[in-house]
Amino acid sequence: WIDDHGNIQVNKGYRIEFNSALGPYKGGLRFHPSVNAGIIKFLGFEQIFKNSLTGLSIGGGKGGSDFDPKGKSDAEIMRFCQSFMTELYRHIGPNTDVPAGDIGVGGREIGYMFGQYKRLTGRYEGVLTGKNIKWGGSLVRTEATGYGAVYFAQNMLEARGETLEDKVCTVSGSGNVAIYTVEKLYQVGAKPVTVSDSKGMIYDKHGINLATLKEIKEVQKTSLEHYIKEHPGAQYTPVSEYKEGRNEVWSVPCFAAFPSATQNELSAEDARELLKNGCICVSEGANMPSTPEAVDLFLAAKIAYGPGKAANAGGVATSQLEMSQNAGMEYWDFATVDGKLKNIMKNIYTNSSETAKEFGDPTNLVLGANIAGFRKVADAMIEQGAV
Ligand code: NDP
Repeated sequence: WIDDHGNIQVNKGYRIEFNSALGPYKGGLRFHPSVNAGIIKFLGFEQIFKNSLTGLSIGGGKGGSDFDPKGKSDAEIMRFCQSFMTELYRHIGPNTDVPAGDIGVGGREIGYMFGQYKRLTGRYEGVLTGKNIKWGGSLVRTEATGYGAVYFAQNMLEARGETLEDKVCTVSGSGNVAIYTVEKLYQVGAKPVTVSDSKGMIYDKHGINLATLKEIKEVQKTSLEHYIKEHPGAQYTPVSEYKEGRNEVWSVPCFAAFPSATQNELSAEDARELLKNGCICVSEGANMPSTPEAVDLFLAAKIAYGPGKAANAGGVATSQLEMSQNAGMEYWDFATVDGKLKNIMKNIYTNSSETAKEFGDPTNLVLGANIAGFRKVADAMIEQGAV
């Protein structure tokens, strides 16, 4: 692709089509300088079982590029997206592989890629999800992953006779998943007090101001340090001041934690601190944010721990609802899609917890989600002739 100075730039792109036993390959595209084959493979592998858990007809895949959208002009983003789609278009289609967004890929990028796909193929079809509502998108898709992670936490807590009402919660990240986790937490009467980005974290003991957060991240697309200009009572800690390099979000005492930034952002030390401070619920909006050691600590403490493949499946589930609306040339209202999302999250919880019981470890939703997700895919592969 050509940058604004007329220079040729080269980035590497990936699409891993992992399993299509249950439906077309489905999973997001990530644009971040850290992207490599290993990251896309782990995300694609998780995606197979996550998509199976939703109960919908979707296989698993993932893709992206080491392109860094930060600091690029709109025109550069557009030219990169067009070049990326020029390579990708021959591998995807509404019945073969339907990519969506992920880190660094939101509505703007989906728009540029959709336009280029249409230009190359001459077809107007549901080849991507996360599209703008004006041209084939679904209501609630933007909110779905964050809302879903909160619905999943509510299901886990309800089974323990608890609720999120009046509870202090911590959230990491400040992108698509984090913003709508914060929004839904307010709607259910909880108080989210933290958010973070790659440069630092905000702790606002009065509760994160949602309007300011959206203005900084969705409109200005800048760093969280600007939050304290509007809310001088809040605390901003830059990454350079994180103690022992650990994300400060996890040292804030909370009832429930919602890791919503990226993989491996919550270590064993962080898990110990959360547990020591009385945290009894962790619902993962991000993919594999807790390290394996942190997961073991949550499981040993028998807290309500929802692994990403179950807790953040609301995003892909709503993407499938977008595909259904596209295929049927239909358009459902907000309450209809939100109602379906809520129902899907409840079903994922029930399926995971019943499978955990069946295998003798009732509070272990990692075991339950892994086995429930795997069984359906494995059965389908065998029934289709072991292909
Ligand atoms: P966004 O790009 O919208 O936001 C990502 C957020 O995390 C930003 O605040 C970003 O900070 C921060 N972040 C990203 N990488 C790092 C890093 N290495 N260190 C510190 N902070 C980091 O992405 P999403 O909100 O869409 O995705 C967040 C997570 O949720 C990912 O794990 C993704 O795979 C997962 N997910 C997303 C779904 C979706 O529907 N979008 C569905 C299911 C899972 P900064 O702005 O400074 O870069």
